[in-house]
Amino acid sequence: MTNATVEQLRERVRGAVIAAGDDGYDEARRVYNAMIDKRPRVVVRAANAGDVIAAVDFARENQLDLAVRGGSHSVPGFGTWDDGVVVDLSAMRGMRVDPAGRTARAEGGATWGDFNAATYAFGLAATGGIVSTTGVGGLTLGGGIGYLARGLGLSCDNLVSADVVTADGRLLIASERENEDLFWAIRGGGGNFGVVTSFEFRLSPVRDIFGGPMFFDLERARDVLSFFREFIVDAPEQLGGFPAFQIAPPLPFIPEERHGVPHVAIVACWSGPLEEGEKALRPFRDVAPIVAEMVGPMPYPALNSAFDGLVPPGLQHYWKANFNRELTDAAIEGHLQYGPKLPTVNSTVHIYPINGACHRVASDATAFAYRDATFATVIAGMWPDPAENEANIQWVRDYYAATAPHSEEGGYINFMSADDQPRIEANYRGNYARLVETKRKYDPANLFHVNQNIRP
Ligand SMILES: Cc1cc2nc3c(=O)[nH]c(=O)nc-3n(C[C@H](O)[C@H](O)[C@H](O)COP(=O)(O)OP(=O)(O)OC[C@H]3O[C@@H](n4cnc5c(N)ncnc54)[C@H](O)[C@@H]3O)c2cc1C
Repeated sequence: MTNATVEQLRERVRGAVIAAGDDGYDEARRVYNAMIDKRPRVVVRAANAGDVIAAVDFARENQLDLAVRGGSHSVPGFGTWDDGVVVDLSAMRGMRVDPAGRTARAEGGATWGDFNAATYAFGLAATGGIVSTTGVGGLTLGGGIGYLARGLGLSCDNLVSADVVTADGRLLIASERENEDLFWAIRGGGGNFGVVTSFEFRLSPVRDIFGGPMFFDLERARDVLSFFREFIVDAPEQLGGFPAFQIAPPLPFIPEERHGVPHVAIVACWSGPLEEGEKALRPFRDVAPIVAEMVGPMPYPALNSAFDGLVPPGLQHYWKANFNRELTDAAIEGHLQYGPKLPTVNSTVHIYPINGACHRVASDATAFAYRDATFATVIAGMWPDPAENEANIQWVRDYYAATAPHSEEGGYINFMSADDQPRIEANYRGNYARLVETKRKYDPANLFHVNQNIRP
């Protein structure tokens, strides 16, 4: 490929085309996980769907690898690739809300911060992630677990339609009425089927919530986990949240002597009537004494960004994921063994409940197959110093080894690291064959392979 070919691409594209040697190349090749250090041939910072089509055509015609970047949070760093073409959607973050129709459109590179700010203005929301800087794109395409999931389902369950640029450079609308097979596949199947330039979501009434983090002494971890496991099964569905292991950060609401000490925590989000919030969270107060808390009424977007400071871009990341159909005592033992050994304040373990509205969707109704899981765990190793990679990765692996025998074979693809590719088929279980079939139809040459890959 000659420089002239890149020049032709520049002529076709409205946004920036950044190649090695250009100003801003180092910034353009960087992703959120600082462990990933790749040098793409060219980064196309798309301004619109036309630019995305140009970049997809360019990669296909020049037989180059193609990586797609939405919010850039992929732990394996799928948003960049050595010698490849990167479609960077970070300049496509527009939002449009239809308050009367209760829908919102998010461009392919929007973050949950963008989304929630736009919909909050109308007292509306859809299930999104825990952190505001995560992309709507990657999170929704993999499924989407968050505070509102018990009541509203996974993020992908709130999807009404999507504009998808497919491997052959066409733009297709995927919905229940058009290209239904594609619509089925992108609700859990990740970035395997094309570049989504626009997501249309159904919204539900959510404005201010009552919630926040509660910290308990580590020695009460068994009580907290055992209680949560039972309680959350039939708690009101407006109550979201999860138990976690977390080193107490040096924040004003935490007593100084506890800073830097590992704790078990519950982060709660009551999205029902605010005046019922105290009562809804009271059962957590009865489990064990709360040693620090920041609980109260707040805008939903405030809770969605409450932990952003703990996970800035530029950390090293290595994560593992489990699904549990039952969180057994043996599984809890594994958590009790390794949760307290959190190596850094950035690292965390979240045990997300999967029930309520998530269970009302059949396992084969969307690509997301683990509808019978009751918990999804993420063991999220995050640390600033690359010199500590070995010790931190080992902690994640040891933790996973202790809990995996008591968990399902598959894990949530959005919480997995690159070395989990062999678990992809297990993640999709009975849906895998249909995903392969759909992949053969829309991407037979596997142009979209820089992801948790479903091979055609
Ligand atoms: C700090 C942090 C918090 C998180 N919290 C949650 C959480 O609460 N709930 C949850 O479910 N997950 C959570 N995740 C996991 C998250 O869902 C995945 O990392 C997800 O892949 C991130 O999407 P992204 O768009 O930010 O990342 P990217 O790195 O940009 O993309 C991830 C994958 O999706 C593809 N992709 C992204 N956008 C598009 C698009 N528009 N069209 C086609 N393909 C696309 C990419 O090609 C890549 O394969 C979290 C991750 C981090 C790092």
